Amino acid sequence: MSSSHPLYRPTLADRLILALDTPTQAAAERLLEQLKPTPLRHVKVGLSLVYQAGLPWVATLVKEGFHVFLDVKVHDIPNTVARTLAVLAGSGAQLMNVHASGGPAMLAAAQQALTALPAPPALIAVTVLTSLEQAFITEVLGHPEGTPLTPKALALQWAAMAKAQGLAGVVCSAQEAAAIAEACGDAFLRITPGIRLPQQALGDQQRVLTPQEALRQGATHLVVGRPVLQAPQPMQAVDALLQAMAEVL
Ligand code: C5P
Repeated sequence: MSSSHPLYRPTLADRLILALDTPTQAAAERLLEQLKPTPLRHVKVGLSLVYQAGLPWVATLVKEGFHVFLDVKVHDIPNTVARTLAVLAGSGAQLMNVHASGGPAMLAAAQQALTALPAPPALIAVTVLTSLEQAFITEVLGHPEGTPLTPKALALQWAAMAKAQGLAGVVCSAQEAAAIAEACGDAFLRITPGIRLPQQALGDQQRVLTPQEALRQGATHLVVGRPVLQAPQPMQAVDALLQAMAEVL
């Protein structure tokens, strides 16, 4: 259900999305079993698990009551993207994404393919991958009006494009969330990875924020993987994240 849906009333736990970045389907199932006593119900299933476990497994998660974000970052010509999204939606996943860099026609085709379904999942766009360097963006896209294009400016431009094509939101850095909310409206989702509690290791994330900082900066949802997956007690890690979020929400 998208945030613009009249029945959408997010609770604290609705704003926390667990990235199920486990090596196997069995490991993901073990983790979810461990986390059963927590209110966490939103999970992100990425490409490796989709390839390994398949869409029928995603459908099982949905039947078990999980809200599934299929993080498959589709990017192709409009017709192919539309057909792909219709297939993915058959799993019952409630949220999925495409690359904004596919352009407005691709975003429009993607959104139309989902809108045509009886229970359309929400569609969000990936803006600028956080792994892309400023130097690469400048080299490829140049200096419009003499100023080098920054990742933030590009993310904003792509968020506005996604909004114009009817998408429900974007995956973005919390640093961009406030500007995106201002440009695209507060109901436009800002889903943010790179979250760590103060005492936790960064892993490969360059810039991290605490849950409180990310929410204060305008994130609507937090995507968290390793802080839970690598915790000695995953349940306590989820509780700590929810407690941190409760300080702000
Ligand atoms: O383990 P960690 O909390 O860093 O996981 C973050 C999740 O968000 C991973 O599944 C990662 O692929 C995803 N992600 C990200 N940065 C982006 C887009 C997605 O970390 N820019």
